[in-house]
Amino acid sequence: MNDAMPVSAPAALSAGAPLLELKGIEKRYGARSPGMGAALMARLGLRPPANEVHAVREVDLSVRPGEVIGLVGESGCGKSSLGRVAAGIARPSGGEIMFRGENVDTLAPAKRRAFDLGVQMVFQNPFASLNPRIRVGEAIGEAARVHGLVAKADLADHVAQLMRKVGLDPAYAQRFPHQFSGGQRQRIVIARALSVQPTLLVCDEAVAALDVSVQAQVLNLFMALRDDMNLGYLFISHNLAVVERMADRVLIMYLGKIVESAPARDLFLRPSHPYTRALLNEIPSLDGGARVYIPIKGELPSPMNPPGGCAFHPRCPQAMPVCSVRSPVLETVAPGHSRACHLDAAPGA
Ligand code: SF4
Repeated sequence: MNDAMPVSAPAALSAGAPLLELKGIEKRYGARSPGMGAALMARLGLRPPANEVHAVREVDLSVRPGEVIGLVGESGCGKSSLGRVAAGIARPSGGEIMFRGENVDTLAPAKRRAFDLGVQMVFQNPFASLNPRIRVGEAIGEAARVHGLVAKADLADHVAQLMRKVGLDPAYAQRFPHQFSGGQRQRIVIARALSVQPTLLVCDEAVAALDVSVQAQVLNLFMALRDDMNLGYLFISHNLAVVERMADRVLIMYLGKIVESAPARDLFLRPSHPYTRALLNEIPSLDGGARVYIPIKGELPSPMNPPGGCAFHPRCPQAMPVCSVRSPVLETVAPGHSRACHLDAAPGA
């Protein structure tokens, strides 16, 4: 984050019903062995099934109109899998996705279409998201054209309006993606997502590939769009600093589970889970204060073979004997603030 380019402060938490709710979401990849040993299967010429990866475990979250939810954790913790489920790109292995209060699995076709268009995803690498042979104006307008949201005669105006909205000159609509900088390409991808008039954006490491100064500009754009369109966001990042100035609520994820959830201000002032504190110790102080860089001990364990008990215990500086045998559950430690840890439940303790 660049102090010279501050991101606008988040608005107060939005009232009203959630746009999107995830209830008890599970995501598994692969399948467990049916019981036949791998050696026997090899002798029979059978390929053993892939081991199961339990990427997301019993996650609950909700996003209201105009609300920014930050989802933070190290690479491989399952946050991208959760983002894909939230955006309807991947099916959950368990749990329910509710859109405007209705289960998306039982939506009538018109409402299902409203969910498919209403929740859009912005990925990390804008160059990989754009077809290098398609002019950006065509790329931006394609979804609106295909879904019949804009009459053919109005498409050019629609594209020009979107380009202006994300800070691009509509005169560049005939250019190809390689003729833009990384930050401009991410603006093109955002304009393309906006072309179907979504109500919620799932941004998966959407600024991670950009230079620090450009990151702040794109984050400011996201906030301006939130204010302008009352967009909700599920903003996924490995970097707490990225979500610090824009999120209303922050969820911390470790090996598929939410281990802490709190209003952003509360989380940064009074982090309660040892993993959250460790993540905070890895980012530099933005106010020149005395935040000391302390890297988190060890590597993230494989989700194919997670540690028993609290999955963070092999790396936790405060681990106790109980931590390796009993898995903590999310419990409220202050109003709106919950965490999963066996330590005394006092935020900041
Ligand atoms: Fe550390 Fe134990 Fe809390 Fe896990 S439950 S974070 S190991 S103190």
